[in-house]
Order: sequence, then C-alpha cells, then structure tokens
Amino acid sequence: MSNYKTILLAIDLSDEAEEVTAKALSLTKSNDATLHVIHVIEPLSFAYGGDIPMDFSGIQDEIQKQAQSQLTDFASRHQLPEQQQHIVIGRPENEIHSLAKELKADLIVVGSHGRHGFALLLGSTANGVLHGASCDVLAVRVGDD
Ligand code: AMP
Repeated sequence: MSNYKTILLAIDLSDEAEEVTAKALSLTKSNDATLHVIHVIEPLSFAYGGDIPMDFSGIQDEIQKQAQSQLTDFASRHQLPEQQQHIVIGRPENEIHSLAKELKADLIVVGSHGRHGFALLLGSTANGVLHGASCDVLAVRVGDD
C-alpha cells in the first residue's frame, strides 16, 4: 500500500479533538504526509432559521471570531502553517468532502464522536463523512463506550 500524502483532519474544537489530533499527527509523521485541518462553523440560521424571528448576525460574528481564535491556538500548538488551516461556514460533512477533493486528500481523519454524537453508534458527522467520501476515512475512537 502506498503512503498517504495529504491528510485532512476535521476538528470540532471540543476536548476530544486532541485525541483525534494525536492520531492524525502520528499518521502524518509515519507517512511523511502533509496535514491540513478543517473546522466548519454551522450557521445558527440552519438550526433556528425559520423558527425564531431574530437577527443572528451579531452572535454569528462572535461565534466565528471565537472559532478562528481557537483554531489559531490549535494550529500554533501543533505547528501547522496558515495555508494548512481551513475555517469554513456550512454543513460539516459537505465542507469536509469538498475541501478533501480540492486538496486531493487521500485520508480524512474524524473522531467517532464529538459534540453531537454520543447517543449514536458513530457520531453523525463521522457517519456523514464516511458516506460519499472519495478517499479513505479514519474514525478515531474517542470517549468511552
Ligand atoms: P459529531 O458528529 O459531533 O459526533 O462529531 C464527530 C467528529 O466529526 C468530530 O470528532 C470531528 O472530527 C468531526 N466534526 C464534527 N463537527 C465538526 C465541525 N463543525 N467541523 C469539523 N469537524 C467536525
């Protein structure tokens, strides 16, 4: 089997992200690959859009600022240059797939569970990423059963 060349790590910036990151870093090293990291911000309007007649733009800006600063911290902790950090707005599985294609990633690394997924066998994002991915997907087991 040939080595992975480009690995895309998807992180939700939760505490579990560090466990997933450790695996992705070790695979990057052993494959002599390039590691990219993506965090997707889900617009509040996706969840509450039609239901609450409210302008979310102020809160949304704040969420984006915080996510950006958390990702910058994360990247500096792991010495990831700026061009390998991606922060995008949308639905996680869609954005992860589309960046993986753009980068021609040959491996996507996600956590088996994150913010949404503890009630599910495989977190909803991990499941969504697995279906329809055009490369290998590694779901790193996090948390306990
Ligand atoms: P969840 O669907 O919340 O159980 O998350 C499972 C895994 O999907 C996480 O460990 C991350 O690897 C990935 N993930 C979830 N949400 C995001 C997000 N907003 N941006 C990037 N990756 C995510």
